[in-house]
Amino acid sequence: MQHHNAVLEVQAMKKYFPIKKGFLKRTIGQVKAVDDVSFFIEQGETFGLVGESGCGKSTLGKSILRAIEPSDGSITFVNRKEEAVEVRDLDNKQLRDIRRDMQLIFQDPYSSLNPRMTVLNIIGEPLICNGIAKGEELKRRVGDLMDLVGLNRKHLERYPHAFSGGQRQRIGIARALATDPKFLVCDEAVSALDVSIQAQIINLLQSLQQKLNLSYLFISHDLGVIQHISDRVGVMYVGKMVEVAATDKLFSSPKHPYTEALLSAKPVPIPKQKRERIILKGEVANPANPPSGCYFHPRCLYAQDICKQQAPDFKEIEAGHFVACHMAKDLDLKGVKVQ
Ligand code: SF4
Repeated sequence: MQHHNAVLEVQAMKKYFPIKKGFLKRTIGQVKAVDDVSFFIEQGETFGLVGESGCGKSTLGKSILRAIEPSDGSITFVNRKEEAVEVRDLDNKQLRDIRRDMQLIFQDPYSSLNPRMTVLNIIGEPLICNGIAKGEELKRRVGDLMDLVGLNRKHLERYPHAFSGGQRQRIGIARALATDPKFLVCDEAVSALDVSIQAQIINLLQSLQQKLNLSYLFISHDLGVIQHISDRVGVMYVGKMVEVAATDKLFSSPKHPYTEALLSAKPVPIPKQKRERIILKGEVANPANPPSGCYFHPRCLYAQDICKQQAPDFKEIEAGHFVACHMAKDLDLKGVKVQ
């Protein structure tokens, strides 16, 4: 581990999906969904990952848990015994063990919960499967988990349809917490919910983090949610991490033109404070056939000749502020007011 307080360190992660064609299913190209991404998450921290849909942020989250197999790179994770483990080297049994420590919370709690199972069995399943609890002990532990996430433990025998969207997300969170993990990937975990319910679930996640010393990778396309919950933020564009910084820094003084454009489109809390919105020209680049040089150059307001020829390195330009842009030091980009 290069960062001594990190719970997770991802280095040069790649996930390529082959494009196959014809009767013989020959590989004729690759979709570079995640392309050479490096970052770390500290113990007890929330790292927000933001970008438009299709930028690779969900693929990155799933690859870290090996819910899908990464194509290349390294994932170092500090397990509950405080041992740094290379997740990519684990066999199936070791992977099952480490999944007790790292869990996923999905976007749509309804489709991820089995409608024929009671809440007891849904939340308790990881405890049953890992041989951790059964019978009365299982009921007690699931009841405690329900208390923890703000559900009524008397509703143990109910089915998912009897709960509201927000309550179902609480069931999903309780299930993810059943094995007492230390790290959670929250993939668009509040995106399907109404704004007022979103706030409740975000508050719950924040209080659980403090109580249980959890670390989060919080993936969302919603900049408001990301700003509210994250300690640090990473911005992805077409499979690449283009900027990482502390939340206030990233929002008040972005260093990547794509971050500036994303922020300019963020809804303003007080409508009178108008901001000039940067309308990005062109489409998001196709990860199967990305442009030369910097992938953002066809849409970038500041592109120079070098941007078409050379891909910029992802570099630390100030302490803790990482950017992949040739012009990062010269540009004076606009951020948003930090609340
Ligand atoms: Fe824009 Fe060039 Fe920076 Fe890419 S490297 S974001 S094209 S200025």
